[in-house]
Amino acid sequence: MLVVDKLGKTYGTGATQYEAIDEISFEVRRGEFVCIVGPSGCGKTTLLKAMAGLHSPTRGVTRLNDRAVTGPPAEMAVVFQEYGRSLMPWLTVKDNVLLPLRSRKMSSAERKQRVAESLNSVGLGAAGEKYPWQLSGGMQQRVAIARALAYKPDILLMDEPFASVDAQTRGDLEDLILKVRDEFGVTIVLVTHDIDESVYLSDRIVVLTNAPTRVNEVIDVDLGKPRDQVETKELPAFAHLRAHVYRLIRHREAEQ
Ligand code: ADP
Ligand code: MG
Repeated sequence: MLVVDKLGKTYGTGATQYEAIDEISFEVRRGEFVCIVGPSGCGKTTLLKAMAGLHSPTRGVTRLNDRAVTGPPAEMAVVFQEYGRSLMPWLTVKDNVLLPLRSRKMSSAERKQRVAESLNSVGLGAAGEKYPWQLSGGMQQRVAIARALAYKPDILLMDEPFASVDAQTRGDLEDLILKVRDEFGVTIVLVTHDIDESVYLSDRIVVLTNAPTRVNEVIDVDLGKPRDQVETKELPAFAHLRAHVYRLIRHREAEQ
């Protein structure tokens, strides 16, 4: 469904030139949950922005449903780490979720229905009239997720979406995103520097190297479903995968 083909990104020119991504290729199948994991500063946000058509890669191409991505595709939604900045403080939760639907051709009844449905699916059915600043960080991020879901994307890209919330909330949000993935049948690509998170959520993990970044290894995660914060994480297979990804990332860091 999504093909990243020999993508590369060099920032700047001449003496200030910085090669963030050397060359990255991988594929995402329809319905899959793929985590991209790599150390901070390795170019994860750079990669995600290029995949989302938010900036142009220096080399290579991303194809979504066989079409090259040259700008934000209609069938894709993106959730960023800084949920605080991505929500409009002067709009209610409902209106924030409604915002991207305004440009869509549909009746106002259908829009309302979509907003209600997606707020319900993230457990915020009763918070529609509140303002973002009246909500906790975890709730704000759920609003951002609801807004992306209301759009009914085929594919959802997420950039470290749970990095700024406490550990308990983070676990809850991880389980929430697995639940909505099943409910909405959406394909998800999630970028994270958190190794445990990448193993817990994924069907497949793409492990990146340090900059200039390449794909270190692509790993199948056969942990079964549904995942459970306690039971999945005490499986020997979980510990094994976690150790494997950890070594891949640590080993590369030690070389530099
Ligand atoms: P990550 O998301 O993995 O932490 P980023 O993609 O944000 O990494 O950044 C990768 C590298 O590219 C960093 O060294 C960063 O300083 C550099 N970088 C990111 N954006 C720009 C930019 N607009 N101009 C120049 N360098 C940038
Ligand atoms: Mg980043």
